[in-house]
Amino acid sequence: MDYMNKSLLNSVGLSYGELSLKGKNRGQFEKMLKNKINKALSGYEFKLNDDLSKLYVDIKSEDMEKVIEKLKKVFGIVGLNPSVKVDRNDEIIKEKVLEIVNFAYENGARTFKVAVNRSNKGFEKKSMDYAKELGAHILVNSPFEQVKMKEPDIQINVDIRKNVYIYTEKIKTYGGLPIGSTGKGLVLLSGGIDSPVASFLMAKRGMRINFVTFHSFPFTSKQALEKIKELTEILSIYTGKSRLYAVNILKIQEAINTKTKKELATILTRRAMMRLAEKLANSMQYQALITGESLGQVASQTLGGLTCTNASVEKLPVFRPLIGADKTEIIEIAKEIGTYEKSIEPHEDSCVIFAPKHPVTNPKLEDVLNEEKRIENYDELLEEVFSEKEYFNIG
Ligand code: ATP
Ligand code: MG
Repeated sequence: MDYMNKSLLNSVGLSYGELSLKGKNRGQFEKMLKNKINKALSGYEFKLNDDLSKLYVDIKSEDMEKVIEKLKKVFGIVGLNPSVKVDRNDEIIKEKVLEIVNFAYENGARTFKVAVNRSNKGFEKKSMDYAKELGAHILVNSPFEQVKMKEPDIQINVDIRKNVYIYTEKIKTYGGLPIGSTGKGLVLLSGGIDSPVASFLMAKRGMRINFVTFHSFPFTSKQALEKIKELTEILSIYTGKSRLYAVNILKIQEAINTKTKKELATILTRRAMMRLAEKLANSMQYQALITGESLGQVASQTLGGLTCTNASVEKLPVFRPLIGADKTEIIEIAKEIGTYEKSIEPHEDSCVIFAPKHPVTNPKLEDVLNEEKRIENYDELLEEVFSEKEYFNIG
């Protein structure tokens, strides 16, 4: 329970743990982060206030809740402190602190603690001394009777910089790194639960993301593609603007079905998707492929299946951020980021339509390669399908 009087809040402090470890890159990361914040908050009246190496976003109190929701989704920020910004003046600080604690008391808080952080050594009082002084001031001038060092009902943090920021709440956010700071990755996005979560995780790790989806129109419907577009729309809250490529692989699936063993169809299709995705990534200087695969989840994701899929990629690294995650863990993240409800809407899946009744559960690469050789002019067929791709700009 936070007892802060929301109408007093006029600034949000940002902490960014991992970025501060980056030494001389710090400046560059900060610049990126500021850029992202400016984008995320466009439409709001705000001022990015770099106060002695801590970023504060000064805003109107009525925008606080919405601005916090936006800032929560900016990767690179680990925590937010909704704050009351005041001038660096002892009397003003004391007055504001009393206002804050009186409101908290009225709302049920009975124990408190004061913590002072003094980055500005120009402020004449030392942190510990000033914390005691403020504590005494509260005990004398407010109904509070009890200081409690461990788990008080309300902790008054006073951050002394050029200005002074008083806050009681620390909101934990995703962390990660600013988008674009670690490279560019192409996600193979299906309509399921997993690949949107994989997208989120790699975006959180600072990757700029584009998407590719494979369909078998007219065997899969236009609505199935619409669903994928809607998923990328939801993801764009985190990824920013992106592009969704759609490739119709029906011709490839027909070739696989007529020329190769039924029970290898899924793995051969998956290999084709990877080859097309690598082609696409190369054509736009994307440096990695990303999938929602998780070890052992289905027949094509056994170690044998993954070996066969993986071997179809020539050079790019394939990132599988969910490889060690259980379905329940994946679902938890999907719910948290808002993709779950969309993912579970029914849709036809281009793999499922041609899926064999009895897929090989642990295919051997050698067998798969031999089967694949039966498709004549396979490279040309892939090239043809690739050239017919469409794309949609999202976000
Ligand atoms: P998801 O929940 O992401 O659909 P899944 O558990 O259904 O995954 P599979 O269908 O085996 O697993 O797919 C594994 C991965 O292959 C997906 O996470 C995705 O990255 C990629 N993939 C599968 N089908 C498609 C498709 N039609 N278009 C693009 N990528 C796909
Ligand atoms: Mg799927």
